[in-house]
Amino acid sequence: MPFALPPLPFDKAALEPHMSAKTLDFHHGKHHRKYVEKLNELTEGTKFAKMDLTEIIRETAGATDKRMVDIFNNAAQSWNHTFFWHCMKPQGGGRPDGELAKRIDDSFGPYDAFRKKFVETAKGRFGSGWAWLAADGSKLQIVATPNAGNPLTDGKVCLLTCDVWEHAYYLDYQNQRPKFVEAFLDNLVNWAWANEQWEAERKAA
Ligand code: MN
Repeated sequence: MPFALPPLPFDKAALEPHMSAKTLDFHHGKHHRKYVEKLNELTEGTKFAKMDLTEIIRETAGATDKRMVDIFNNAAQSWNHTFFWHCMKPQGGGRPDGELAKRIDDSFGPYDAFRKKFVETAKGRFGSGWAWLAADGSKLQIVATPNAGNPLTDGKVCLLTCDVWEHAYYLDYQNQRPKFVEAFLDNLVNWAWANEQWEAERKAA
């Protein structure tokens, strides 16, 4: 099978109490796994089986044909989840540091203004989707995408994401999405990962 479910970059109980082992059991072990399995099924014997996920996402973005839409959704959900796991770490969260911290200040004002806008954007995404910190050229943006959406299809670079599908928080926070997003920012964010994405983008530019 060309696409595999990557292991979590931390022990599944390591994010407790902010994200439970039970949530990760379902979210990684069942939801993420299903997207990968479905992508393998859908792409078997096609040119997509030899592409990497970001190539498939770019190639199928905006498709209207049902099969292409299904391939986009499962490829993007596979990529988005792997990215999301790396956006968290035990004892994470709080203020960013490094070069990215300065860019966040420049783009949104003091950290608290960034935090407020990120939570509001995540809360305002009606239904399922993702909240992102993304770079559009040298400018940082907070954006929300619906369903499997990913800012890379708009030419942006992903720096950080929070999954706001109900399956990401319902077991731990029930319907309180803002509480989950606040816990993500305050206790889970892996700013080193976001900084790495930012630096890789600076070098490539
Ligand atoms: Mn998810």
